[in-house]
Amino acid sequence: MSDEPTSEPESPEEPIRFRPSVPAILHSAYSNAPFDKCIDCGASLLDPPRRYQVAKAFNGKECIFEAAVCFQCGDGLKSEMSEESLQNLSSYLRELTSQRGPSPHGASWQHCSFCHKELEGSHQLMAVMYGPIQLTRPVTMCHGCAEPAEKRLSEKTREGWQDFIDSNFPGVPANFDLPVLF
Ligand SMILES: [Zn+2]
Ligand SMILES: [Zn+2]
Repeated sequence: MSDEPTSEPESPEEPIRFRPSVPAILHSAYSNAPFDKCIDCGASLLDPPRRYQVAKAFNGKECIFEAAVCFQCGDGLKSEMSEESLQNLSSYLRELTSQRGPSPHGASWQHCSFCHKELEGSHQLMAVMYGPIQLTRPVTMCHGCAEPAEKRLSEKTREGWQDFIDSNFPGVPANFDLPVLF
């Protein structure tokens, strides 16, 4: 064994190198706490940690829709979307992204990830989580960007979505911008 000094002096400023926490914006607005169950199958999301998506829709500052869906259920939902809808949607999102380039606002919750305008009125937000850890940068979408996205979905896909919303979220107002980012 050598007497080499350790190369990592302990710093009182950094007692914990990694402290995962769910940002408040990704909490359930209803419970004011991190989502802990998949809305569809009821599986626990935090213990044991599971990969899931959080989707929220806002009217101004008011959250009018929120859902946490585990990846298994998310894949199930996706498989109900037609191949054509999925392709149309992803090509639309690619077009939007390539037209605008990187956001000058960074990973901002206050600006649309696609057109970079400040978010006001109707808008939506999505993030991928693993238990308490945020795996992706937040994706936000303003009404102006969301409306054409929904038009790219087939009638069948939109009806499937509406059914999912109606059966899981009976209180959600009709005809708001559904998060389409799953
Ligand atoms: Zn689930
Ligand atoms: Zn936008």
